[in-house]
Amino acid sequence: MTTTPIVPVLPDTQVLQRLDAAHFLHPFTDHKALAEKGVRVMVRGDGIYLWDSEGRKVLDAMSGLWCVNVGYGRTSITQAVARQMETLPFYNSFFNTTTIPAVELAAKLARIAPAGFRHVFYTGSGSEANDTNVRMVRRYWDLLGQPERTVIISRHNAYHGSTMAGASLGGMSGMHVQGGLPIPGIVHINQPSYAEHGVGMTPEEFGVHAASWLEERIRELGPDKVAAFIGEPIQGAGGVIIPPVTYWPEVRRICDKYDILLIADEVITGFGRLGKWFASEQFGIRPDLITFAKGVTSGYVPLGGVLVSDKVAGVIVAGGDFNHGFTYSGHPVACAAALENIRIIEEEKLLEQVAHDTAPYLKARFASLAAHPLVGTAESCGFVAGLNLVRRKAGNVHYQVKFDPGLGVGMICRAHMFDNGVIMRAVGDRMIIAPPLIMTRPQIDELIGLIRLCLDRTLEDLERRGWMR
Ligand SMILES: *Cc1c(COP(=O)(O)O)cnc(C)c1O
Repeated sequence: MTTTPIVPVLPDTQVLQRLDAAHFLHPFTDHKALAEKGVRVMVRGDGIYLWDSEGRKVLDAMSGLWCVNVGYGRTSITQAVARQMETLPFYNSFFNTTTIPAVELAAKLARIAPAGFRHVFYTGSGSEANDTNVRMVRRYWDLLGQPERTVIISRHNAYHGSTMAGASLGGMSGMHVQGGLPIPGIVHINQPSYAEHGVGMTPEEFGVHAASWLEERIRELGPDKVAAFIGEPIQGAGGVIIPPVTYWPEVRRICDKYDILLIADEVITGFGRLGKWFASEQFGIRPDLITFAKGVTSGYVPLGGVLVSDKVAGVIVAGGDFNHGFTYSGHPVACAAALENIRIIEEEKLLEQVAHDTAPYLKARFASLAAHPLVGTAESCGFVAGLNLVRRKAGNVHYQVKFDPGLGVGMICRAHMFDNGVIMRAVGDRMIIAPPLIMTRPQIDELIGLIRLCLDRTLEDLERRGWMR
């Protein structure tokens, strides 16, 4: 990691804000509101920190967007990318051709993937990878003489990307109402959220119960119509929803019973976020397909893909042409970035560090936030964590009193975080983090201190508004 501070010439923030408002349509953004406020311009990153155009330093507890696993400022990735760009900036893999980084990365992924995965299909993003999944599972059943198996079951409040198929697989109602989604052939069951649906049950009982919704839906649809079930091991964008340990093994059992393919969307949970290469190993998911993106390159260059199990790859390979692919499938520069990123994770033993040292430490420190008067629950798994802001606390999560969602308490809290030098994301009134895997114990202490300070500021703010009564 670089330690020499680079002091960039600071640009004129107001000029950039005006140009941004005039020309840049941002993802998932209320543009009128943003134009009034003025966008924040990020100019530099190093380790777990960012600096904006006013020279303010921020601790990035979201790893960019769940992706900068090895942190900012990794010159060895920059160099690997530059070398590849100078040698061969692009070639496709359509016409019986390949490139060296694409082959090497495929072989590397086969080594770090769970047992029984030896093939990869490359895409440019997680959304494209999930589109690939839809096409691949339907092709799979078609080749096996069961073309009527087309339906894919997903979950409400899931996030699987923003393309037509990705947004349809996802269960975000705000996305579905814009543009007539979901597309046909995709249905949703409830998410395994103990806080939302688990009243009157232990978490373990609830995990089995939540999995039973899958069996119920399979029976309603008719098992011979169902192609696959897709889920994130831990829901990320939905608010870091950690399912009970009983959930995934029961889902696997049900998929086996009805011969349905299981897709684990590991775009967030892959590449060390939970202390292993893939969370599927931890949760006993035994998927047939694994979606990846984000952490594969630590976000330095866009790359995504699908890891394909031997069971599915055998059928696809034997089936002749699979008429699907992207110009940038296996982009050599992206693959070179991924290879160096994976090498760093291995060399610095980041999986071991997270699993045995820093994640247990984060878990204990983050859980201590539950003592704060605003916090209902605070839980983590690996390097993702979330806490609920509540109006009145109670020992049992189901008896806590929430804020009126219209008040936007989560967004108020997020603004205090942002103003005090820490980036935390708000999903409703749930505040979530996914820090870079390189984060050390002293940095975890710094993060928890900042979060506590900002919770205090938020509480004072809410009291002034009279919302705590
Ligand atoms: C981010 C994300 C995606 C979409 O990836 P993009 O690269 O933004 O298309 C898909 N699935 C999950 C679980 C994600 O978090």
